[in-house]
Parts: sequence; structure tokens; C-alpha cells
Amino acid sequence: MTRRSHDDGSHLSRASMVARALAAAVLLMSGSVGAQETGAEDGRPLYLTDGRVVDVEDGQVRSGRTLVVRDGRIRRIAPAEEVGRPPDGARTVDLDGRYVLPGLVDAHTHLADLEAARRALESGVTTARVVGVAGYRDVALRRMVRDGVLPGPDLLAAGVFVTPDLGETVLADPRLGRYHGRDVRREEDLRRVVSVNADRGADWIKTRATKRAGLPEQDPRQQVYTESQLRAIVAEGREHGMSVAVHAHGDAGIRAAVRAGARSIEHGTYASDSTLSMMADRGTYLVPTVAVVEDLTLPGGDYSGAHLQTRGRHMLPRIRRTAARARELGVPLVVGVDTGYGPESVLRIGHEMEELVGAGLTELEALRAATSRAAEMLGIDDRTGRLEEGLEADLVVVDRNPLEDIRYVQDVLVVVSDGRLAVDRLPFAREETAETGR
Ligand SMILES: [Zn+2]
Repeated sequence: MTRRSHDDGSHLSRASMVARALAAAVLLMSGSVGAQETGAEDGRPLYLTDGRVVDVEDGQVRSGRTLVVRDGRIRRIAPAEEVGRPPDGARTVDLDGRYVLPGLVDAHTHLADLEAARRALESGVTTARVVGVAGYRDVALRRMVRDGVLPGPDLLAAGVFVTPDLGETVLADPRLGRYHGRDVRREEDLRRVVSVNADRGADWIKTRATKRAGLPEQDPRQQVYTESQLRAIVAEGREHGMSVAVHAHGDAGIRAAVRAGARSIEHGTYASDSTLSMMADRGTYLVPTVAVVEDLTLPGGDYSGAHLQTRGRHMLPRIRRTAARARELGVPLVVGVDTGYGPESVLRIGHEMEELVGAGLTELEALRAATSRAAEMLGIDDRTGRLEEGLEADLVVVDRNPLEDIRYVQDVLVVVSDGRLAVDRLPFAREETAETGR
């Protein structure tokens, strides 16, 4: 049995507590905390007791709740006395009044390997949209999660990034080889790349309306595809049941993408008020990725270099303003971190949520942008994004109430993904509590 009570560490001497805390720190550094993969695959129900459940729709926090998880889904959320005692063989985790949130959704990642998936999961991300990685690695990773080989996060794959210069990505599929050294702009070529993605199992299409911010030789305001080229991409995607996410910084490119029927604009740095109003009217989502622009301004992280630091400094106030105006004008905002979750990455989903609160969102709105609103944009709100009986058991536990301070989501203590207890740092958190008093 693994029942844990909140006073686990209280009888220990100070020396042994320190020894255990050190061992915990070593575990954290070696990453093996996330290697736990217990809970669902052995068919045992999981009982999370004494949770404060945060409803991201109505903003209510309901305390003293037990969550029953079985076969990957939330079966029950109710007061302990209504649920009754866990059956023999159930795994029980006492949350001791901590806060339970829906698993977080990162709608803009470049997650492309097993370690990156682990890092994302450990930061509370139970669902991620992958918008541009090499060689359909996103499709392969998604499959492993669905097969139960990886504990998560669940992925939505965009396959090959539809862009004029496919570069090395032509290696991803023999049908793309013909585009080596060519500019992919003709409608029939754009449609072909989209249909190869569909055939390879992509869920979404990612394309661009403007150049990149992260390359010093490019100006992110410069438009690269016209409205009619973007329309061809959207139309082909629609034929295969795929929505289109469009990278766009400059206002003209954003407008073209919105008019062409993009479901989401990624970044949106220089969007004018009239473009944002058009997005609000049409229900086009904005994934502003503010935190990564700050990353441009700092050494290390996903992006560095003298030129990018200079550029980042003038982009950062712009993108922050855009996020704030988007909120005021009623554009639906969704959280995306725009990291590959690589070993150098310094960004996690909580940082972007903090940026959105800085842009004027309430804590509740920022939570929604990373849960229910994101799931709605991705078309998976019938599966995840809320804590509700019948939905996938994707949830995170944090120590304190994130409706009071959004930064509390940065320290994730428990992650359950598709019913599997993927991360459990509660034993270490309890030692901390025993030493400092909470
Ligand atoms: Zn990106």
C-alpha cells in the first residue's frame, strides 16, 4: 500500500530529515522523479483525497474533495464522505488540502524527443501541440503516449512546417524530396505538403505568414505568404479535417492569415487594434508566446546572441502590449511557451501564464488560457482541459491557490496524465512543510 499521510516526516529527527531532503534533491536533479509510471496501467484505481479542486470555468474552489481515477479517466469528484473508503488494492495519495487543477496545455511547443517530453510533463503539461519539428518525431511521440509507453504529455502533431524553404525537413518523407532547393509557394505545392502531412498522421498544420524573430538575418515583420497562398493551405487542411496555426509577427501577415481562415495566430507581435478586432469578431485565437520573447533578450535559453538580445528588447514591449490589447478587445488567448523543452530551455508554462497576468488577464483567465480555452482551440475539450467526471484524468496539484497568485503553478507537486501518476513530489514537499511550517 502506498497510502501517505501528511505527517509522514514529523517523527523523524532533524538529521534524518536533512538526509532525506538531500536524497530528494538528488532525485530531482537526476530527473528520476518523473520516471514513475504507476497508477493506471496496472488497473488499480487511484484515489486522490482531501484536494481543493479548482473549477476553471466558474472560478470556485471546492475543498475536501476525493478524485477517483480509473482506466485513464476521472470517474468521480465528490466530498470524501460521499465517495466512501477506497477499495482494497487502490492507490491512495493524500493531497492534504492542496490545489488540484486540470492538466496544463502548452499550445506551442517544439518538443521533439523523449527527454523533452519528460521535462514538459514534470512542469505540469499533460497536453502539448507540437508546431514544427523534424522527421515526424511528434507523430512518433504521440503514438508512444497513446500506446502507454510514455506517460505523456498527450500530443497534437503538426508534422512538417509548411514554409517556403523546407530545408532539412524534406528528409521527413520521400514525397518532399522534390522541394529541395526550391521555393514552396505555388498553390499545388502548398497543397501537396499539407496532404503529405495529413497522410503521415498530423493533427494540425503549421505555416507562416511572416519571417522569424529567432534568426538575426530575418525581419519578423516581413510577410512571406500572401492571403491566397494561405487560403490554399487552409482549404487543403480543411479537406483533411485539420486546422491551421499561422506564425505571424507583422500586422500585414497577421491580417492575411486571419482573412485566410487561420484558427490560431502564433506570436502576433505587431498586431494592430483593427487586426485584433477582426480576430475577436472571427474567433481567431492568439497564442502570444510572450515569455519566449523575453528569452531573446537574455543569454542562454532557447535563443541567444547579441543581435537577438537587441531585437528582443524592442519586441518585448510590443508583444506585451499586443497581449494586453488582445485581452481588452476580446480575442481568445491561449498559452504557448514556444520552447523545445531542451536541456538549455529556461521556460516553462507557468512563466507564460505569469506573463499573461502581467498583460492584464485575471489569474482565472490565465488558468483558462492554459486549460479549458486551450482545449477548446485544439478541438479536444470533450477529452481534457477541465476537471470533470468522464474526462481524461489529466491533472496537476500545486501547494497554494493559483487564483491568488499565478506563480504558484510554477511549482508542480503532482502530475497525473491519462490516469497515470507521472510525478509525485509530495513526500519532499511534506518534509519542507515539516521544517518550515506551512
Ligand atoms: Zn515556435
